[in-house]
Amino acid sequence: MKHVLGAKCVRCGREWPAEPNTTTCPACGGMLDIQYDYAAIAKEVSHETMANRTEQSMWRYMEYLPVQGLGNRPRLRVGWSPLYRAERLAKVLGLNTLYVKDDGVNPTASLKDRASAMAVVKAEEAGAEIIACSSTGNAASSLAGNAAAVGFPTYIFVPSRAPKGKVSQLMIFGAHVISVRGSYEDTFRLSQQAIERYGWYNRNAAINPYLMEGKKTVALEIAEQLNWQMTDYVALSVGDGCTIAGVWKGFKDLYATGMIDRLPRLISVQAEGCCPLNRAIAENKPWEPMEENTLADSIAVGVPRNADKALAAIRESDGVVVNVSDEEILAAARLLGRTCGVFGEPAGVTGTAGVKKALELGLIPPEASVVSIVTGNGLKDTPNAIKAAGEPISIDPDMGQLLDVMERL
Ligand SMILES: *Cc1c(COP(=O)(O)O)cnc(C)c1O
Ligand SMILES: [Zn+2]
Repeated sequence: MKHVLGAKCVRCGREWPAEPNTTTCPACGGMLDIQYDYAAIAKEVSHETMANRTEQSMWRYMEYLPVQGLGNRPRLRVGWSPLYRAERLAKVLGLNTLYVKDDGVNPTASLKDRASAMAVVKAEEAGAEIIACSSTGNAASSLAGNAAAVGFPTYIFVPSRAPKGKVSQLMIFGAHVISVRGSYEDTFRLSQQAIERYGWYNRNAAINPYLMEGKKTVALEIAEQLNWQMTDYVALSVGDGCTIAGVWKGFKDLYATGMIDRLPRLISVQAEGCCPLNRAIAENKPWEPMEENTLADSIAVGVPRNADKALAAIRESDGVVVNVSDEEILAAARLLGRTCGVFGEPAGVTGTAGVKKALELGLIPPEASVVSIVTGNGLKDTPNAIKAAGEPISIDPDMGQLLDVMERL
């Protein structure tokens, strides 16, 4: 917290004190952005101080984070996920340099753990007793897990279409789960009403400005894992837009404090059947709601909650937008699995599907260097994994049948 200056509204520009339970701008309802004293941070950090750190989690970057400290409650180990050099995949795609950042290895198996771990710390600072959120799945399961680790009760609202794998996580972590028969938008609205009524701590993305600060740690890690030599592009899937806005904030923080000397361009990847943000960029006009027609449930967001920040991030980075079909998403799941040994859920591999498509469309050159963030693990959504990869060969326990099969392989 010692480097936090305040919270600035991205819409009207007013500045407010950054309290633990700060949400949106009291004047206009716009999203707030946490502001830092970069000169002070720059005095404390260097490539060398970072190299000597032993903390192997998102809390490695305390100078850049809006928290007092972590206290001594037991926490899950979030972040410091691996960055793999994906040489075989790069070759298949015809790309010079490709890295895969596998955030599916987080404790509840998605990048959302970074935001939820932050939410739990802020809820503690705020003296809250209960945390609530609505989510298509991963925000919910990550909140439930990170809250359970420190003993916080949670109320979680999910749309009834949420995959069973994710709902099962909630139940195992002991969350109070309310499955809403309606869209994500309906679910979100109901959760907001309940949060107001009961005074719960609000972990809804794009309402709570601290979540993005947690998500930005993926960018801090990428930069450090690249030895502070940024790639030309960073690709990721986009739903509400909090992740891409957080990633951009992380890179800008590093740039402002002299830790990297150039910023990457963002590749914003959405599903063809639900791409309100990419459409707004491509057509250079305000975003409009879209239907939620994609099997990538984590990015099936027709009314993006963080549109202002996400659009600003894509534009500021001179970003590339690319939309992919569900077939291309499933193909990317197979490709990542076979060439990297990385198993992503549909929204998890959508960024990689976008890299392939952007190359095919000539939106990025083959000489480019790219980091593709895999945002969630494939075990969360096994029906779609089976859809991507098919069923195994099935035989009786009989050597004759096996010989037949082997001949045909
Ligand atoms: C939430 C999520 C995203 C998208 O993040 P937004 O902040 O909604 O844009 C992408 N992939 C996975 C696996 C997610 O859970
Ligand atoms: Zn405002």
